[in-house]
Amino acid sequence: MEDFKRLSDLMVDAQLIPRGIKDERVLSAMRKVPRHLFVGDSMLHNAYEDMALPIGEEQTISQPYMVAIMTELLDLKGNEKVLEIGTGSGYQAAILAELSREVFTIERKALLTKEAEERFQALGYGNVHVITGNGTLGLPEESPFDRILVTAGTPKIPEPLIEQLADGGIIIAPVGIRFSQQLLIVRKSKEGISEQTHVPCVFVPLIGKHGWPEDEDF
Ligand code: SAM
Repeated sequence: MEDFKRLSDLMVDAQLIPRGIKDERVLSAMRKVPRHLFVGDSMLHNAYEDMALPIGEEQTISQPYMVAIMTELLDLKGNEKVLEIGTGSGYQAAILAELSREVFTIERKALLTKEAEERFQALGYGNVHVITGNGTLGLPEESPFDRILVTAGTPKIPEPLIEQLADGGIIIAPVGIRFSQQLLIVRKSKEGISEQTHVPCVFVPLIGKHGWPEDEDF
């Protein structure tokens, strides 16, 4: 049996700290959450490697560095209500659950929702709520959210997410064309909306109204 704790420490020490991740709360959440329990058996031995991995349904669990940088940019202090679009494996939501009060996460593929929910139960993440649906519409009944994280690539920030963001809130999303995006940081205040671009990235597409059309030939 591999020593997964050693591998997660190595992931943090070799992949995250040297690339500039500084937030100690983010680093300790990334050491703690057992990434190998969020991938299938065939990917078990690659779980802590410096790459995105397939999780079935043509979807991926994001590269550890991308999870860390997005989480750091959310600037979580511990009392936030967070919305994630694109549950996938549930790994990012588990990291968010370690660092905030309550997490709502939406996934359009029902099989992934079911598997993620089983993982949250097994690991005791009682502050994560998983919803199957079109995340580009947000979750109006639970809004406003202090933070919103989009973990699929989108041509623009879905308008409903901006509406559902609290004053003082932050949205992080990969925005761009199909095979190339940049992380966009959106801040909402009484004065309005400000946007700032950050690192380049490549995510699977955010599908649905306010994202990419379902029938687009990628
Ligand atoms: N956060 C995930 C994790 O930790 O494993 C990785 C997310 S994966 C890169 C992107 C996910 O977004 C996929 O599971 C995909 O099915 C989902 N997705 C795409 N469009 C969506 C939509 N409109 N609403 C909800 N989920 C969507």
